Amino acid sequence: MRNYFVLIIIVLSPLLNAQTQPWQGKFEPIDNLIAPANNYRTASGAPGKDYWQQRANYKIKANINEKTNVLSGEEVITYFNNSPDNLSYVWIQLEQNVNKKGNEDFGSINNPVKDSITTQNMQRLTRVVDFPAGYTIKSITDGNGKTLNTIINNTMMKIKLNTVLKPGESATFSISWSYPITDRSMYRLSREGYEYFPEDDNSSYLMAHWFPRMAVYNDTEGWQNQQFQKLGEFALEFGDYDVEITVPADHIVAATGMLENSESVLTKTQRKRLEKAKKTFDNPMMIITKEEAIENESSKTTKQKTWKFKAKNVRDFAFASSRKFLWDAQAVKLESNTVLAMSFYPKEGLPVWKDNSTIAVKHALEVYSEATFDYPYPVCISVNTSNIGMEFPMISFNGGRPDKNGNISERAKQGMLSTIIHEVGHNWFPMIVSSDERKWMWMDEGLNTFLHQRTLEERYPDFNHVTPKVIAPFMSGDKNILRPIMTTSDNELFNQFGRNFYVKPTVGLQMLRNTIIGKELFDEAFKEYANRWKYKHPNPSDLFRTLEDATATDLDWFIRGWFFTTDHVDMELSNVKWFKVFEENTNIEDKNKTLKTKITANGTNSNAEAQNFSNGPEYINMIETPDKDYGQFLSRLNEKEVRKQLSGKNIYEITVKNRGGLVMPVIIEWTFTDGSKEIDKLPAEVWRRNEYEIQHTFIKDKQVAKINLDPNLELADTDMQNNVFPKSKTQSEFNTFKSKQK
Ligand SMILES: [Zn+2]
Repeated sequence: MRNYFVLIIIVLSPLLNAQTQPWQGKFEPIDNLIAPANNYRTASGAPGKDYWQQRANYKIKANINEKTNVLSGEEVITYFNNSPDNLSYVWIQLEQNVNKKGNEDFGSINNPVKDSITTQNMQRLTRVVDFPAGYTIKSITDGNGKTLNTIINNTMMKIKLNTVLKPGESATFSISWSYPITDRSMYRLSREGYEYFPEDDNSSYLMAHWFPRMAVYNDTEGWQNQQFQKLGEFALEFGDYDVEITVPADHIVAATGMLENSESVLTKTQRKRLEKAKKTFDNPMMIITKEEAIENESSKTTKQKTWKFKAKNVRDFAFASSRKFLWDAQAVKLESNTVLAMSFYPKEGLPVWKDNSTIAVKHALEVYSEATFDYPYPVCISVNTSNIGMEFPMISFNGGRPDKNGNISERAKQGMLSTIIHEVGHNWFPMIVSSDERKWMWMDEGLNTFLHQRTLEERYPDFNHVTPKVIAPFMSGDKNILRPIMTTSDNELFNQFGRNFYVKPTVGLQMLRNTIIGKELFDEAFKEYANRWKYKHPNPSDLFRTLEDATATDLDWFIRGWFFTTDHVDMELSNVKWFKVFEENTNIEDKNKTLKTKITANGTNSNAEAQNFSNGPEYINMIETPDKDYGQFLSRLNEKEVRKQLSGKNIYEITVKNRGGLVMPVIIEWTFTDGSKEIDKLPAEVWRRNEYEIQHTFIKDKQVAKINLDPNLELADTDMQNNVFPKSKTQSEFNTFKSKQK
């Protein structure tokens, strides 16, 4: 024990001098930041032995009244209580109520009254021309036809059960409802509603969060009954759907699930074409052509038709209906599934939609399936809209159209295809890996954007895509305004959520894959997470734990910094010292030319911050190790050999300062005087010793002309000017200015 004490003294004494700023524990475990593991969720990040989740099956009959723009429906929900708890009430989501005047917070955000404001903005801000919105609930009964008592709180409805629903039991609710479908152009952000085309007096109906849906009840939230305020999207249970949609007979309906009665809603020609498309893998086939769609636009029948769809194991159901739709389809072969990729668009989307949409769906299906698990559903649909992109199981509504002459800029086309890939990608996150969007927007948007960007990289390499440098300006922003990624969805600012919930997590995952963990291990861990949590409800801690568990990489420092703080990366290459070993015979000769200083035997050296290499190397005098330094060891190093190995070598000691707060690996690019380059990488763990400043020594055969930190912009470093040596002109001037101030 006595020697152990001596060891402590020896090890500790240099450290006491080194750190002048407080230790922040950047490498400490994040256990106190995330939910503790339990029987439902294991410490390894997998579902635990007692994991459970509820289930809800839906039978729905819905009807669009084109004259009044009212959607009405009758639905029967069968709700399975798989929880260990007795339930005396359940919560139902009434999302359409968000569109009632006074409930929609979203339209007014970032739209302050100005001395000059467009009428459209003023209408969105004040809703001075009011319009009806929100549900009329006509009746709610239980399985015995007995009326159930309810209370509605804005977008949530509590059903008080006539008998307690015990663990393992199921209950049935029959709900009859209707609501006025809203005009999508009336809101800044509208995920659904109708889009009116004045030229031919038709609408395209995009129906989503259209029927009363079960709220999630789970082990972390109890009832997830946080109000819908538009930014935080949905938390939903899985179930089977049996949906009958009655629309004008000349409408074409695209929906989640398999069409069950094609013989009564499609023409013989359409059915024949569809059968052919199911076996066509190389390009999309037209099921409804432009000419046929234009003819359809003017038919305006008063008859109706009912389309029947079935969907298994989905968390939601959406559909689109219009007599304007063109329709194309092609088959996509995945390892374990053949999917029918389809697009529906009005003629206003031509020609870019016909040429690109279904192919983009195919690319997304292939890349995402490879990165996670095969797309499990029979169809995958992209429907054209005027703006935004919005995802639902098997179907997404995607903005982007050419101008009146059919022309589209390259930028707009990239935006459109990027949207399609992104929204199709949401089938994985959160439609199957079903995280709670209302709470953690980044969990689905971040993971989805990461794979969406990978799809662009692999299949559309010429397109703009997200790389770490893209997020640097945002991360160096005002810390009084910035929020960490781990901020709940509705608490983020409207002008910030795109970068904070989409781009920053994407860049974080790119850094883990490309720089910190490595592609092979990271991809395996990402796949592991997706497979562990498919058709389940993961939390952030389940993702964090799986990434560590599947890679044997301690990522607590990264998760703590990147997800829980607003720190940024700014490394400064603050000093470089160049040394050579002093050798009697060789160095003396050119003493007058290059030998500026000689290191004295007691080991001090000059502390001046160099600006460049013009002072030449400092010389280290390597002395014979005194016997006492070997302690009780009787063996001796071959000291001559050590000195011989160092002979003529260039020794560089670099000092890197952490200016931004985030600890990261240090990537150093050496450019030698002969123009060749070499890269060294220090793991983030070097910052364990000192979170503010590190020194590291390198030996190079060749003489170095230039040093660059993060040369390939992998680390989202917010200031690249201070990453270079010799110091850039502005950086040198800044240093001179600083020293004058002292
Ligand atoms: Zn998204």
